Amino acid sequence: MISVQFRGVRGSIPTPSRSHQRFGGNTSCVQLHLPETEKKLILDAGTGIFELGNELMSTRGNDAIEGNIFITHAHSDHIQGIPFFKPLYSSGNYFGIHMPPQEDSSCEQILKNLMAPAFFPVSPDAFQAGIKYITRKTGPEIISENVMVESHNVNHPGNVYLYKIHAYGKIIVYCPDNELIESDSRMLNRYIRLFENADLLIHDSHESRLSYQNKAGWGHSAWELVCELAADAGVKQLCLTHHSPDNDDRSLEERSEQLLKYRRHFRGLRFAAEGDQVYV
Ligand SMILES: [Zn+2]
Ligand SMILES: [Zn+2]
Repeated sequence: MISVQFRGVRGSIPTPSRSHQRFGGNTSCVQLHLPETEKKLILDAGTGIFELGNELMSTRGNDAIEGNIFITHAHSDHIQGIPFFKPLYSSGNYFGIHMPPQEDSSCEQILKNLMAPAFFPVSPDAFQAGIKYITRKTGPEIISENVMVESHNVNHPGNVYLYKIHAYGKIIVYCPDNELIESDSRMLNRYIRLFENADLLIHDSHESRLSYQNKAGWGHSAWELVCELAADAGVKQLCLTHHSPDNDDRSLEERSEQLLKYRRHFRGLRFAAEGDQVYV
């Protein structure tokens, strides 16, 4: 069994205020718990990766930490935790950091820019861990005998991927930023094929059908459409994420009640909250 833990479910900007505490204020980060023998697998490096890093450091004993961080794109809510991820500063650890190319910039260049003197006191040269920066093309990459990760382009400003993870016979799709366009049946059919029979789909739900009317082109989906498409794709569990900073706990609780009408299509269905753990 694989467990999937949500470390940050907020989109765009961290929201630490009291009115956002139940669903959480940290930006995008998900941790996959694979068998002990596997390297760590982390999806996105928003502010949620900070506490994850502290936890890894405090529980590692004398062991080195090895893992892969798959970043969907370079918008700040998906990379801003990297300079605060302590395992990168500790020698003996080893990480692959994967990212799609951004215009002419490689993964390494983007992270150098993030830690340029104007934005952060030290450069990535301060990292003591072994780091392999991987500017990814679309397509499959074998991580180990039992884990393979596919990258696919999605509809979001910039060059952005979803990651489809095949691990131990299960399929987990991570797609936190993606604008589904209801009138574009060709697009919807492509996603139905990509999500088909996924054991778990983690998808952008930043907008509702109502709020989307003023946000076409911003790169995010209406949660109702995501539910309908995931049901058509035969997705088993659906976790909705990347909550808008404008949606406080009360509005997400109201939405959670509305979610009940889609419940019968799925084994599990929820608006993800920080700390939630789901099993596939
Ligand atoms: Zn985002
Ligand atoms: Zn984005």
